[in-house]
Amino acid sequence: MRVLLTSEQLAAGIERLSRQVSGSVGDRPLIVVGVLTGSIVLVADLIRRLEGPVQVSMVWASSYRGTATRPGELELRLDLLPDLSGYDVLLVDDIFDTGHTLEALLDELRRRGAACVRSLVLLRKQGRAEVTIEPDYVGFEIPDEFVVGYGLDFDGVWRHLPYLAVLEEEEIAATRAARNAHANG
Ligand code: 5GP
Ligand code: MG
Repeated sequence: MRVLLTSEQLAAGIERLSRQVSGSVGDRPLIVVGVLTGSIVLVADLIRRLEGPVQVSMVWASSYRGTATRPGELELRLDLLPDLSGYDVLLVDDIFDTGHTLEALLDELRRRGAACVRSLVLLRKQGRAEVTIEPDYVGFEIPDEFVVGYGLDFDGVWRHLPYLAVLEEEEIAATRAARNAHANG
């Protein structure tokens, strides 16, 4: 694995993001809605830098299955959400790739009567967007490579790394081979 962003660089990015969010939300009550599972570390670090009354909730989205590194069909679950009517809502996801996840979730949240819905992503992959919407806040622009760590997984693993790393093609292939060997006994 090749380190792309150290934990110090990530912390500086989150400090910057939290200042931008606080600047636009001010003292109004905010509901932070994290996207499981990739945003857990980001949400934990971000909310501890926000001031004013903040609620936290989670939704679930998945477009990857097992050892795939390109999106498949999008699945959403929003049943844990509180009543959003009248609140400022900040949707927080790990990475903006094609943008379909964020677009679908923003539609759902706006339908639930929030006063204002903004979106924040830690990472945006360059040259991959397939939608016209843009996240309101972006931590880092990254090249089109598959990354893990700081909440992001490959085949369920590596979310716990405190830094962000690029998973090389050989490592992806090796994980797939191990997975197949395991499946075939
Ligand atoms: P989108 O709908 O924007 O194409 O995909 C967003 C989701 O795909 C992210 O929330 C994340 O779960 C996953 N994803 C996209 N690129 C990467 C990547 O490089 N690494 C990992 N681990 N997940 C990614
Ligand atoms: Mg995700």
